[in-house]
Amino acid sequence: MAVALDIARQNPNAPVLAAVAAVPADDPRPSLIGLTREEMAEALIGAGIAPAQARMRVSQLWHWLYHRGVTDFAEMTNVAKDLRARLAGIFTLARPEIVAEQISTDGTRKWLMRFPARGAGRPVEVETVYIPEEGRGTLCVSSQVGCTLTCTFCHTGTQTLVRNLTAEEIVAQILVARDRLGDHPGGTAPTDGAMPSEGRAVTNIVMMGMGEPLYNFDHVKAALVIASDGEGIALSRRRITLSTSGVVPMIHRAGDEIGVMLAISLHAVRDDLRDVLVPLNRKYPIAELLEACRNYPGLSNARRITFEYVMLKGVNDSPADARALVRLLNGIPAKINLIPFNPWPGSPYECSDWETIETFADIVNKAGYASPIRTPRGRDILAACGQLKSETQRMRARERLALGAMVAGTAD
Ligand code: SF4
Repeated sequence: MAVALDIARQNPNAPVLAAVAAVPADDPRPSLIGLTREEMAEALIGAGIAPAQARMRVSQLWHWLYHRGVTDFAEMTNVAKDLRARLAGIFTLARPEIVAEQISTDGTRKWLMRFPARGAGRPVEVETVYIPEEGRGTLCVSSQVGCTLTCTFCHTGTQTLVRNLTAEEIVAQILVARDRLGDHPGGTAPTDGAMPSEGRAVTNIVMMGMGEPLYNFDHVKAALVIASDGEGIALSRRRITLSTSGVVPMIHRAGDEIGVMLAISLHAVRDDLRDVLVPLNRKYPIAELLEACRNYPGLSNARRITFEYVMLKGVNDSPADARALVRLLNGIPAKINLIPFNPWPGSPYECSDWETIETFADIVNKAGYASPIRTPRGRDILAACGQLKSETQRMRARERLALGAMVAGTAD
């Protein structure tokens, strides 16, 4: 389920920071960010490093790139000076441009990042959201610009797919967040918003930003393998969650090859309703989806699947729906996340009343499912679940609305 950014337009008082450490759009050098260890070794050998040394050099660079978070070869003090200079002539480590950073009144942060084309089609902008809480900080990362699926409660679903993000662009979202949050060794935590009281700033990653991650499997896999590598960003796979709308044929591969936690964007207990809310259901109906969940590698009470359920007034929020949900998930080690619907301009749904949500939660809680009601975060900056959309697309939508108003005015 997408969480998007709408920089400074929803809350004009939210601070917007200037761009930092941008990649020049015409920089022809490839980046080392986002390469697997094997790919990086090949790239280094291609740059003239002796094959016998490649593995050792990869280890050195990996530490600097992902543990220390450096963006300049000159800082890699255990690499010979002439080699640093040679690498800097061939590769870049620059970050994407941060077009804007916005901070919600509840401490949620949203960044709009711009990536140059660099062989991946056209330049694109994506939004990444950071949600600080007591004792943890969750980074919500995007996998595509736009989405081919058209979940009717989701703002991103109204935006056509521009392209898949590369592994570099997915990992870069994590690195930029860690830069901004002072999460690399020696970094300074910001003081202009809430942060976890101790420990790392980014403790968890959720692939719940823009796009369907299982439709960009190879790049998402490469990025999450990098994020969980113990010598770099070093986030446990148990602290990384991949959320899918239900791409059944890829679910087993996600568990087998990436090994992260799984979340399912469920939202309905009947096929006729889920066909509308999550149209992918017409291809992979609920029974097939749940069968894939039962067979998810590593599934156990310690590694439960999270089922996301957005609360839509009068649509899917009755006590009968809650009881049907309990029956449906019987036998699957599961958690249920109840998400109060986050409206967006033109959305066809309303959020369920609080009392209705609590009644629903009581039923699933009594059935033994931990089902926290996910308090909406970052609503004032359109950073909450289902609200993400790239700024370019928002501008186009505003232009279409303005044009429509003009045409309507002429017709009058
Ligand atoms: S909720 Fe549906 S439409 Fe929205 S980003 Fe996820 S898969 Fe795409």
